Amino acid sequence: MSEGGDLSTPLDTFEILVDHEAATDGPTLRLAPNATLDDALAAVAGIFAHETRLEAIRLAVGGRSIGSTSRSYLRLLFGLGAPGAGFTTTRGIGDSDGATLPGSSTRFVVLRYLCPTDAAHPAEFRVVHDDGSPPRCVACDAAMGLAT
Ligand SMILES: [Zn+2]
Repeated sequence: MSEGGDLSTPLDTFEILVDHEAATDGPTLRLAPNATLDDALAAVAGIFAHETRLEAIRLAVGGRSIGSTSRSYLRLLFGLGAPGAGFTTTRGIGDSDGATLPGSSTRFVVLRYLCPTDAAHPAEFRVVHDDGSPPRCVACDAAMGLAT
């Protein structure tokens, strides 16, 4: 049902999220081919809210690389991080129960994968867990494990 390109969201939909000055060696957020800009934004905001030391993340939609986005860029663009915006860079909120963010936590859960051989290798984030094909580490090609 999801094969073919008809259901794919055009890549330039996500261009607004790309920070061309963001680091490109960080973890990757991999979204389904039919993910919307809302999905991407909610997932990225959820990750940044939970991964409080993460400054930049690469985006891929349906296996196609979009580019990187950063915490500071999203804050600039959308006012995320402003008081009451449901997004914070301070520790505490959401630390105990995963990538929760008002308005997004009921839609999906962001899953975090880690390299089993070297914790320094970039993590990967996915919105949908597919047991049949775990992500491969970009640094050493090991099958990555779901972080708990
Ligand atoms: Zn690795």
